[in-house]
This record gives sequence, structure tokens and C-alpha cells, in this order.
Amino acid sequence: MTGRFANIIVDISHEKVDRFFQYRIPEALMGHLDVGMAVMIPFGMGNKQIKGYVMEITDRAEYDEHKLKAVDSIVKDGITAQSDSIKLAWWIRENYGSTMIAALKTVLPVKKKLKQVVRRTIVCKVDAKTAAAKADEFAKKHQSAKARLMQELASQSVLPHTLVTGKCNVTNKTIQALEKAGLIEVQAEDTYRKVLPENIADLEGWKKKRLSDHQNAIVDSIMQDFKSGVRGTYLVHGVTGSGKTEVYMELIEQVINEGRQAIMLIPEIALTYQTLVRFYRRFGERVSVMNSRLSAGERSDQYERAAQGDIDIMIGPRSALFTPFERLGLVIIDEEHESSYKSESMPKYHAREVAGELCRMKNASLLLGSATPSIESYFRAKKGEIKLFTLNERLAGGQLPSVYVEDLRSELKSGNRSIFSRRLYGLIKDRLEKGEQTILFINRRGYAGFVSCRACGHVMKCPHCDVSLSEHTERYRNVSRLICHYCGYMIPGVTNCPQCGSKYILGFRAGTQQIEELLHKEFPAARVLRMDADTTRNKDSYEQILSQFACGEADILVGTQMIVKGHDFAKVTLVGILAADMSLHAGDYRAGERTFQLLTQAAGRAGRSALPGEVVIQTYQPAHYAVVHAANQDYEHFYAEEIAYRELMMYPPVAHMMAVLVLADDERAGAVQAGTLAEQVKQQFGDQGFVIIGPTEACIGKIKDIYRYIFYIKHRECQMLTTVRDTLEQTIQKMQWSADSVQFDFDPMMNY
Ligand code: ADP
Ligand code: ZN
Ligand code: ZN
Repeated sequence: MTGRFANIIVDISHEKVDRFFQYRIPEALMGHLDVGMAVMIPFGMGNKQIKGYVMEITDRAEYDEHKLKAVDSIVKDGITAQSDSIKLAWWIRENYGSTMIAALKTVLPVKKKLKQVVRRTIVCKVDAKTAAAKADEFAKKHQSAKARLMQELASQSVLPHTLVTGKCNVTNKTIQALEKAGLIEVQAEDTYRKVLPENIADLEGWKKKRLSDHQNAIVDSIMQDFKSGVRGTYLVHGVTGSGKTEVYMELIEQVINEGRQAIMLIPEIALTYQTLVRFYRRFGERVSVMNSRLSAGERSDQYERAAQGDIDIMIGPRSALFTPFERLGLVIIDEEHESSYKSESMPKYHAREVAGELCRMKNASLLLGSATPSIESYFRAKKGEIKLFTLNERLAGGQLPSVYVEDLRSELKSGNRSIFSRRLYGLIKDRLEKGEQTILFINRRGYAGFVSCRACGHVMKCPHCDVSLSEHTERYRNVSRLICHYCGYMIPGVTNCPQCGSKYILGFRAGTQQIEELLHKEFPAARVLRMDADTTRNKDSYEQILSQFACGEADILVGTQMIVKGHDFAKVTLVGILAADMSLHAGDYRAGERTFQLLTQAAGRAGRSALPGEVVIQTYQPAHYAVVHAANQDYEHFYAEEIAYRELMMYPPVAHMMAVLVLADDERAGAVQAGTLAEQVKQQFGDQGFVIIGPTEACIGKIKDIYRYIFYIKHRECQMLTTVRDTLEQTIQKMQWSADSVQFDFDPMMNY
């Protein structure tokens, strides 16, 4: 890496990275320094020699160049875990566009100097018989607390301190008195904060399975590569229940046997207690888990344990990727199509892509798994960049459910205006009579203000972008407009369907609450649970609702996409998807993909046990390819149509797309800023295969008084977009706009 100056951090910890110092690179070291290297530098008034890390190499002097001190030397063997973190941060900065500081904060754990947790136990110093006798003695003297504790210790000679002071309600004073009397002893030991459930070791079940031939073939193929030094990227395409997790566990075990460590990413919402138990049964204390419910102290402990090599496996969501394993050999990303793997704040990195780079750095293999692979990964598999494996059978039994697609247009024609089609209504009634359970699912996602015709199914779309238009109503004047959120194309609201002339052309709105109310009206005896953002606001309500439903405390569960993941309910034999159109017309290029995934997963909720399942998909567009292929659980054909659409419209992964989001306090200033940047791209790059869409007001035009403008740039080569971004970053700097007033997002997964 060339450049005349090095930006160096002296103290690399999450809180300290805001401050870096610039040094001159002396002639002798020119061309030898690299990001992440440890160097010795003269520091402070006395020019004391200290160690620092090179964070950036640049040709731009931040200060008067003659006043800069020079780097002294390179530290031999200075490649540490920290160097790797810095290198990864640099890669993230380069690829997603953010400040180096933001990138570093992403990869470095928050390190809080916290006291280690002390675990105290109370140990009985006398035998059980004596303890019982003492208990009687205390009881006679009406010293009930002492009696209680001795009684407990008579049956169990060691008790956790917290149990004694908590549940048994014994004060510290009483404990001290008994200790003085020589009856008990309080013992203390330092421990890391435990993040696995307390009773996990006592749980039964999950014996190691003998793998099927198909499973073995996958493990063998990947391990053969591994042992011969080949590190690849692999994708397991297999329906839920086809044995992917067993494959992951076997691979992890073999990789550990090779002396390496493993990270397994899993979306937080799918990281169930059952999964943890399963891994714990197999790997015991060598496995740890990371999730957003952990405190800063617990997180920092987990990182510490990983860095010291006390654990071999880390399971967790996106951020678990930054576990500082020295000997990382394998990264697994389960449910790799999930949008939660993409960060929504700067830097807007995708965990799958960062994992790719991490594996390259660490010489590790990357395994992706999904029942509905992302179009990106499948595209790469087709190109031969990813080795593809397929698992077709459900191993734990249970047949695939029967799926009915109900055409809501014909319901309207025959006079049914309810949210429930006649078939769904009949099946719900049937399940209530049989005492079986139903899940009703409304896939409301992000912003869906699309307008469609109830009579013919026609959807108002942007002629330039082939995505659905969104309805905006100006509250004061009560006029409605239809707007494209990619390009800003706008037409007045319509009162008649341009296709069939019907007046039933309306914005689509339906929520879980409405459905719940309707259920109460139609089926007064049914017990209904509702799960959505409103009912899961506090920490444990999500688990609570699910376990209530699992225990059979309700007949019907109504919910958003939250309920499709992970959980197995043996008595659910009916799944109703009320309006597949909600996600079909979300107004972005991933709408079809997301619908296919949601429908496939939702359908997979029915008939997980011996009872056969049925699925009803209600839609105004029964012929839409995402609906048709989801109903048939036919990924291949879905992929073929989806990739053709992406090809035609130049959407990722065929081409690449960069969103440029401009944030401003002032409405006009924001519009001008976005206009300036978009214009610059047109002027400077316009004729080199770029497509520029917008600028326009963002889908959500204002958040917390900050105005939002957006434009998109498409190009076949990702590298070209990076070049544009660099140019825009320079402009932003030159114009002295603040660095966080413009955000970049590559191949966006959300609507702005
Ligand atoms: P997935 O991760 O694809 O959903 P799992 O690995 O969880 O699939 O397997 C689904 C079920 O099948 C589990 O109950 C698991 O114990 C069982 N299973 C997986 N592999 C085997 C096998 N080789 N033999 C018997 N049962 C298996
Ligand atoms: Zn119509
Ligand atoms: Zn458009």
C-alpha cells in the first residue's frame, strides 16, 4: 500500500478509536507499511516510544506536513487479532463506504472493564443428619430462618447463595451467624457470566444422529476440500427439517478436530432455546452464544473467552461474526437469505459478504444454508462460484401440506367481501370443531401502500422501474397521488381501474388487529392470540405468546412475519395467508423474492407432525409466479423467473445498485444536495453504462425532523459503483457537508 502518511491509533478499544494520530512515513518504510500493522511511534511531549496500529495510509496531510513526526519502525510479529480486526474494518470501509471509525466500531466489541462475576455457594459443613437435627433445634427456638436453611442443607449439601437469600429468604446476617457457628461455609469463585440457560446441562434429548447418505456426502465433500487445503464457499439448499443443522454440527465437530474454530450465524428470531440445547448437548461448555439480550458485560465476557481460546464455537446473529477467534476455520450462515444479515445503519454491510472476506483472511470455509436461498447466492452457485448441495427429504417425518390458492377477485364477484375466503372460513370452522390449531398470517412488511383492483387484480406500477406505486394522501387537501419510490414518477390517484374500469380500485390496508376483531365476531367461541409489534413490545412477550400457543391455550394465532420462523407446533394443521399481495407489492425489486420466501416458510408451519396440514394462500394475483411456485414449493422455477426479471430491469445480482441517501435539516438544502450529487454522476460518468434513477423524496420523507432524499445508481460492475462513491465522498468533503449527511447502501434490502 502506498501513500506518504499513516493514520495511527494508539489505543485500540471501542471507546478510543475516535482519536487517531497522523505520522509521516519515512523513506525507508515507504511501501512496507500496511493497514493493521503494529508500529513503534514517538508519542507526546517526551517522544516516548509506544506501539500503535496503522489504520489508514493516505497521501493527504491532515496538518502541516513538516510538523508531522515520523513512524519509527515496524513491530516484528505485530500481526495480532487486532490487526485482523483493523484489516476487516478497512475492507468494510472500502466496500460499503463509511468512516474508518464507524467501521472499526462495527468490528470491535464494546469492551467494558467490568468486574468478573463472583459466584457464591453455601456449603454445609456437617453431615445431613446433624443438619436436620440442628434444623429442629433452631425451629424449637423459633429461629425460623436458620431452621429453614439447615433443613434445605440437610437434603442438598451445596446451595447457590442467590437461592438462599432469594427464594429461601434468609438474610446475610443469618448466614454469617451460621458460618461463625461452624455449620456452613460461604465459598466464592470467579466465573464468566453464564449466557446459556442455567439448567441446560440437565436437559434430555438431542442425541447425535447417524447421518444419511445425502448428509454424509455434503460433510465429506467439504471436509475433503478442507483437509487438502482448499477453502470454498458452499450452499446447502434444503427444506426445513431436511437435516441441515445436523450437517452443520458434524462439520463443526470435524473442523474442531482439525484444531480450528467455528462461528455459526443464525437470525436472532430463529435462535431458539431448542437450538441452543441441541448444540450444548453436543459441544458442552465449548459453545457460547451471543444475542442482543446480553448485557455489555456478558458480551465482553464472551469475546474475552473466545480470544483466549476457551470456546470453539460461537452462535449468534450478525454481530457474532466479529468474534475474535484466532484459529477460525469455518463460518456457517443459516437462513442466509434473511434480511437481518444486512446492517441497517452505517456501515451498511452484509454479513454474508463480510463473512466471505473474513474467511479469505483467516483461511476458513464458508457454508450457507437455506430452504429458500437468496437470489444472490443461487446466482453465484449457478455461475460455479459456490458449490451447491441439495437436501430434499424431511427426515423427522411429516408430509408437505396441501396448498390452496384462493382468488380474492372471484370472492368479490360472488359477493364475499370479508377478509376470509369461503374456503379459509370453512377450514377454520372445521379446525375449531376438531380442536386443532390454526395460524393466520399477514405478511405486512415495511411500507406497503400499493393500489390494486379488487375486481381484476390489476396493480398500479411504475412504467420505468416495474415496481408498485405507493399511495400518498395529502391530509389537508385530501388528494391522493401514486408515487414510485425509486424514480419519483408520480400520477394522480385513480378512481377507476385502467384495466377493467371497475371502481373497486383501492389502497390495500389490513392489520392483525382488524383480523383479530373479525375472528371474535365470526367465531365468538374461539380463543385467539395476536402477535405483532404491538403485542411483543416488552422483552419476554414474544416467547410468552409462543409458549401459550404451544401449550394449547389458544385455537388461533394471528400474526405478522414474526410467527413464521423456527417454532414447531404439533397441533397446527391449518395455515392461512390472508393477503399474499401485501409483500408482493412492497414497492421494491426484492418484493417477489421476499414473498416467495415468506409463503414457503409459512406453508412449512403446517403439518409438522403426524396430522396432515393444509395451507390457504389468499391473493388477488393467483397467477403471479412467486405465488404459483411457492404453492408448489418449487424453488427452481421461481428462480428462473425471478432472475429473468432482474436481468430485464438490471437489478442485483445481475447488475449492482447503490442507494445514495441524503439527510438534511432543511428541506430545500437536502433536495439541492441530492440534486448536486446526482448531477455530478450524470456529468462525470453518464455515458459509461450507468443508470441513474431519481433523485426523489425518500419513501419516508422525514424522520425526526430530518429530511430524506434518495437516488439510485445501477451498473453491471460493482467496482464502478465504488468508484462513483469515492468521487462523491470527495465532493462531500470539498463542499464541507457533514460526513454523515450522505449514506451509501450497496444492493439495498430495504425501502428508503
Ligand atoms: P433443518 O436444520 O434442515 O431444519 P434438522 O437438522 O433440524 O433440519 O433436522 C430436522 C429433524 O430431523 C430433527 O429432528 C433432526 O433431529 C432429525 N434428523 C436430522 N438428521 C437426521 C438423521 N440423519 N437421522 C435421523 N434424524 C435426523
Ligand atoms: Zn380492474
Ligand atoms: Zn419508477
